[in-house]
Amino acid sequence: MENVKRIVVKIGTSTVCHANGAPNLKRIDQLCRTITDLKNSGIDVVLVSSGAIGVGINRMGLSERPKEMALRQAAASIGQGELMRIYDRFFTDYGSLCGQILLTKDITENPEGKNNVIATFEALLQLHAVPVVNENDSVATEEIVYGDNDTLSAVVALFTDADLLVILSDIDGLYDKDPSKFANAHRIRVVDDFDSIDAEISDSNTSQGTGGMITKIQAAKIAAAAGIPTILASGKNPEILYEIQEGRQPGTLFAAGKEKA
Ligand code: ADP
Repeated sequence: MENVKRIVVKIGTSTVCHANGAPNLKRIDQLCRTITDLKNSGIDVVLVSSGAIGVGINRMGLSERPKEMALRQAAASIGQGELMRIYDRFFTDYGSLCGQILLTKDITENPEGKNNVIATFEALLQLHAVPVVNENDSVATEEIVYGDNDTLSAVVALFTDADLLVILSDIDGLYDKDPSKFANAHRIRVVDDFDSIDAEISDSNTSQGTGGMITKIQAAKIAAAAGIPTILASGKNPEILYEIQEGRQPGTLFAAGKEKA
């Protein structure tokens, strides 16, 4: 990937957290180390991380996601701080700066707000810091949320004029049918026409994730329309980012519709 100078990496809840919501420290450690290595080789990296609500729920000692909105937002508040502390610790260990950006749709869809956000991303990247992005779940209401970080990561890829969007998931690509239900499912290596994807998508069946496969395809479509390809790959071992850097192509590549302007 010689021409890739800036990537947005999105990591899902079931990759960042254990099943009980506790942060998966080994994985976050590997992720921060690999991202720092990519940065050291001259690539700008923006991280879009899910997981705050799961981490918050675990920290609050709850056994399941609260039904009450205010409690869920409290979990987001507690979990976001905790998650950021962990990211900051690992990034600092490896010599990277990082900075938190929490977004809501009303900001990104307002022209002035959008320009401010773009300028903040650019300033962080100029400082060689890793922007760590999430939706502002502790205050967001239904009308102003993206609702899933897949879509948010595509918007961030557009805002930062990224060359590639990488979505790291609990699954290692798009299959012709849900591999958790069909043992004979086959991975689709390349999607270059969003209008004729030959895959059956079933609803997300994880207790933690909010997106599912549909939102990942939608995110890839948003990115592709802006000339940005997307790779959907397994987040089980974040060192997979090295493979992508070396031009190997794990997972599913969603080709860009047109070259970037
Ligand atoms: P994440 O937490 O990484 O955002 P999700 O759990 O939300 O991921 O979405 C990935 C899940 O989508 C997979 O674990 C799989 O069960 C489901 N899925 C449904 N249809 C498909 C398909 N055709 N190919 C791959 N995964 C699929």
